[in-house]
Amino acid sequence: MSKSIQAIRGMNDILPSEIQGWQLVESVFQELMKSYGYDEIRMPIVEMTSLFKRSIGEVTDIVEKEMYTFDDRNGDSLTLRPEGTASCVRAALQNGLLHNQIQKLWYAGPMFRHERPQKGRYRQFHQLGVEVFGLTGPDIDVELILLTARFWKLLEIDQKVELEINSLGSNEARQTYRDLLVDYFSAHQDELDDDSKRRLLTNPLRILDSKNPEMQSLIAAAPKLSEHLDPESKQHFSELCAYLDQCGIKYRINPRLVRGLDYYNRTVFEWVSNDLGAQGTVCAGGRYDGLVKQLGGRETTAVGFALGMERLILLLNEEFLLKSAQQPHAYLIMLSPEAQLAGRVLAEQLRDQYPSLCLHVHSGGGSMKSQMKRADKSQAKLALILGEDEMAMSQVTIKNLREADQNQETIAQDKLGQWLGKFINT
Ligand code: ATP
Ligand code: MG
Repeated sequence: MSKSIQAIRGMNDILPSEIQGWQLVESVFQELMKSYGYDEIRMPIVEMTSLFKRSIGEVTDIVEKEMYTFDDRNGDSLTLRPEGTASCVRAALQNGLLHNQIQKLWYAGPMFRHERPQKGRYRQFHQLGVEVFGLTGPDIDVELILLTARFWKLLEIDQKVELEINSLGSNEARQTYRDLLVDYFSAHQDELDDDSKRRLLTNPLRILDSKNPEMQSLIAAAPKLSEHLDPESKQHFSELCAYLDQCGIKYRINPRLVRGLDYYNRTVFEWVSNDLGAQGTVCAGGRYDGLVKQLGGRETTAVGFALGMERLILLLNEEFLLKSAQQPHAYLIMLSPEAQLAGRVLAEQLRDQYPSLCLHVHSGGGSMKSQMKRADKSQAKLALILGEDEMAMSQVTIKNLREADQNQETIAQDKLGQWLGKFINT
């Protein structure tokens, strides 16, 4: 026998037994976005490689070592998208969505990064993302934070996540600060690990992001970006904090929060959790006022975030999932060939009458005992039984499967619709 083909490492099937959490998260998010007035956009999964190189930055982890890049048959270099922001900006520009317009957009879908797979870190993972174009003030930054906070509440995980914020200042202020950092870390060359030595030359801000415990005291003593912000960014940040205070959102200012992508400026934020092990960041975002211009558009301010669905789903409580699970209303059991025919017709009539009815119809025949077993396994609240007696009398027996005494009653088939209507609505 030939060896069976396996999925690619770090790329997972999402099985029926796991799907409930996914559907729940997606539908709650979709409703939430609608309620805040955001529109969905869907972008292709593959883009020109240059799009990501130009936006995310040549010397970031993503571009240096995580992208799935290949030449297509025409010899163009293409890349499976590692994130959504660059594609979203590209799509908005290409389709003229940014001509003197404000856009509030969201998207959902798979992203691809060649990382070492572990809990909360995969090679194909899924993000929900939001991007807002054309708004400059801290009021929109705070709206994004408020709507994520509401999302956690709706999913009942608000006790498990904490907000961290920081400001990266203007590009000019960051450049000045960058020079200061290079001076500081250069003076401590021998204390730097290999990654940091490399970053010192390419992207010194990322040294602040190092998770290496031996680097922590050196990092703690480094000059702080917050002490070198330009006055406008300082003002923006203090207004943001005032909004958050006013709205009752708790946050921690983390002066070392720098984010791994090059395009951010001013506000950056992360929602982090202690319940996820090493992969603690559930949601991350910030302002990227320069990116639209960098990708060929007119100067357009922008802010957004992306959250990792796998990590979010790891945080969901069992009780919450159980409470949100929709049990089928009924399972239809039919005990003769005539009953099978009549049952199909009846089931379709009931669906016409009650589109929200969740009715499983047994297929494949079998004894009462085996059909009851299937009914029970389906989690249905009721079994509807069409046996020989019921068929002879044009009746149906209704058995409650979820009550201790499993009481049952027999009613006329033409009264079943009415009966179920009442049952669904109580
Ligand atoms: P990390 O710190 O985990 O490397 P990142 O800074 O690379 O995250 P972003 O590019 O900001 O992540 O992506 C936003 C969110 O997407 C993350 O906060 C995380 O929840 C999720 N995410 C990123 N990479 C992965 C991955 N490889 N597997 C699963 N989720 C991921
Ligand atoms: Mg990463």
